[in-house]
Amino acid sequence: MKIKSIRGFHDILPESIKRWHFVEDAAKRIFELYGFSEIRIPVLEFTDVFSRSLGTTTDIVEKEMYTFTDRDGSSLTLRPEGTAGIVRAYIENSMHAKSSITKLYYTGMMFRHERPQKGRFRGFYQIGAELIGPQEPSSDAELVVMLWRFFEEIELTPFLVLEISSLGDQNCRPQYKEKLVQYFAPQKEELCEDCQRRLQVNPLRILDCKQKRCKEIAANAPSMLDNLCEECETHFNYVKENLLSVGIPFTINPKIVRGLDYYTRTVFEITTDKLGSQNAVAAGGRYDGLVEELGGPATAAVGFAMGMERIVLLQEIALPEGFQKKVDVFIAYLGEEAKKAAFPLAFNLRKKGVSVETDYGSKSLKSQMKRADKLGANFTFIIGEEELKQGVVKVRDMKESKEEDIKFEDIINLSETFQP
Ligand SMILES: [Zn+2]
Ligand SMILES: [Zn+2]
Repeated sequence: MKIKSIRGFHDILPESIKRWHFVEDAAKRIFELYGFSEIRIPVLEFTDVFSRSLGTTTDIVEKEMYTFTDRDGSSLTLRPEGTAGIVRAYIENSMHAKSSITKLYYTGMMFRHERPQKGRFRGFYQIGAELIGPQEPSSDAELVVMLWRFFEEIELTPFLVLEISSLGDQNCRPQYKEKLVQYFAPQKEELCEDCQRRLQVNPLRILDCKQKRCKEIAANAPSMLDNLCEECETHFNYVKENLLSVGIPFTINPKIVRGLDYYTRTVFEITTDKLGSQNAVAAGGRYDGLVEELGGPATAAVGFAMGMERIVLLQEIALPEGFQKKVDVFIAYLGEEAKKAAFPLAFNLRKKGVSVETDYGSKSLKSQMKRADKLGANFTFIIGEEELKQGVVKVRDMKESKEEDIKFEDIINLSETFQP
């Protein structure tokens, strides 16, 4: 039997990697401008890190985590998201003692045992950022603005909508939850099985249910935004004002609840209608209680994560062209002597920053030219017997279809000519 990859896991092949680099590079560039530094943390953590932070009643912890028992009997989990591990690292490395403001971003693979579909994998890549320390609303706004700027940079904003809301805090959310329970309880029998259970453990999540009947019932449910306490209201207004001041377009969607328990106050999602049911490409919010929950000092924080596969899919729709890898120079040779001369020539050109491809065997000139074409080489160097004798290289400009003999010793000095 042939070996194959695990269902829901995928390879990112060289032909699409340019696009991935484009997205990743833009994220890094923009995040660094906003003062964020990269952090790299393990993909594997003690299960507690996730069950304590995500909440034991969330879908992720209940049924999607890759959890197993290590040889010494401890329970380990492949990270289903980035924030919990970052907060664990923040506490373990006493980052709070080094600075009152910590700005971190990360990129890497996450693991969730979900039903695979277009744009949704079990092993998938996320990029995220966490702003830990400040509780002021301008930090929420700055993070959202940074995320939007990133999407502008990769030319996706025409396909995206920014939605924001507030989930309140420990001061006003409990009363709101109570109101929700009162609203849903008389219609309990009509809710889906999941929502009947949510009514006991986490009624907010009913607002998020995708089932048609649940959606209909939830449509008239009381809104968190009408039930915010004064501090939460002021905080939310400030965030909106900041966004307006830099012209970032947003809509208010009180139905955003986020799947995770740790969010407080500001929550946001960036969605698209171009990818079918997988409409969220980025999401985040404030999580003021999490650092303390995981054993650190009481510390405010706000963050987001985005799904790379969906962004890359959308990117293909937005910018279909221009992501092929190109080579500057292809060196074609004829005969063993020419092949030996081509080797140091390629070495020295690459040292000068020119990307060079060449063959290894002794194929015909025609098949070498074919490969040069396929690689999209800008220039092809041809070294045959005659060229060797005269100490020159035949340089063909592939775009202009022009040829010129250049002396071997001059080629390296002309290396800039061959770079785009
Ligand atoms: Zn439901
Ligand atoms: Zn409140």
